[in-house]
Amino acid sequence: VILKHYVTGYPKEPDMEIKNGTIKLKVPEGSNAVLLKNLYLSCDPYMRSRMQKKEGSYVDSFTPGSPITGYGVAKVLESGDSNFKKGDLVWGMTGWEEYSIVTAIHTLFKIHDKDVPLSYYTGILGMPGMTAYAGFYEVCSPKKGETVFVSAASGAVGQLVGQFAKILGCYVVGSAGSKEKVDLLKSKFGFDEAFNYKEEQDFAATLKRYFPDGIDIYFENVGGKMLDAVLLNMKLHGRIAVCGMISQYNLDKTEGVHNLFCLITKRIRMEGFLVFEYYHLYPKYLEMIIPHIKAGKVVYMEDVAEGLESAPSALVGLFSGRNVGKQVVMISHE
Ligand code: NDP
Repeated sequence: VILKHYVTGYPKEPDMEIKNGTIKLKVPEGSNAVLLKNLYLSCDPYMRSRMQKKEGSYVDSFTPGSPITGYGVAKVLESGDSNFKKGDLVWGMTGWEEYSIVTAIHTLFKIHDKDVPLSYYTGILGMPGMTAYAGFYEVCSPKKGETVFVSAASGAVGQLVGQFAKILGCYVVGSAGSKEKVDLLKSKFGFDEAFNYKEEQDFAATLKRYFPDGIDIYFENVGGKMLDAVLLNMKLHGRIAVCGMISQYNLDKTEGVHNLFCLITKRIRMEGFLVFEYYHLYPKYLEMIIPHIKAGKVVYMEDVAEGLESAPSALVGLFSGRNVGKQVVMISHE
């Protein structure tokens, strides 16, 4: 899957194209690269920022005319590095193609536990899982009994944050963009309450209804008007983990936030974070999450598109909320 040109506004399927080509299925002589057969690819909102030329971004832009890169799950076919061998399963940065030669092998994690769906390593057992874990436990300083609000709550990250907060004994409310998603939040993921933000006129009043005494923790995924309304509804000494602001990613000019003075009056701690800085906690996270998955204590919902040709539409769909759960693209079972 090739990015044809840099994108402005909402990304569209024709901004990408599928090209057939051949690569030599061989690791170059003397290189420590690995040759991968890609099994699952991950569609993630941050990829939008890579579709434009942006100086000073925390991730590199894609190169128009070249294959898109992103997180994925793959099988090692050949390795120039002693840490990986033929047949190993890995997750990490790979290409949006059937086979990839990856030289940045430090971005690959070896998969040891295969008793779970392999696609989970694009989600609950991969980058979004680590994001929910680090953002909630490390950034939010949560305590039992606190009130928690999660936006984009049914997505790859949000569905986990809500479940982690419930396990801790918090009161949890989520927002999402359809009735189907709102129902899932309550019936499948155990949120106490949920609402469809597209049907609400006045977010501040809506939040007041669900949090009459205020919000201790806001897990921010969307930004814009929702953030403004949350600030008005935070409790004294509340915490806001700023994970993402997807409502702003396709705007030429981002919306202003008007209620930041609440940070002072309510002594709120608002902290942005990037998952990359927390990967050292990955073994600890796996130790916690794998037993929870196997015991059915944490569930995970995926939206799986089939085939490389469905990848552009799956990626674009994130920005209209077409995905229900973690958006994955299945390339091959093995
Ligand atoms: P999701 O699986 O939640 O997919 C994106 C969802 O965002 C859509 O399904 C849609 O759900 C919602 N959305 C899209 N446009 C808007 C909008 N204009 N206003 C409100 N909601 C919108 O994605 P992830 O769980 O992977 O990511 C969630 C957030 O976390 C993103 O902001 C992402 O950038 C961020 N992130 C940050 C990381 C970090 O290291 N800081 C790492 C990973 C993710 P709906 O139908 O509910 O509108």
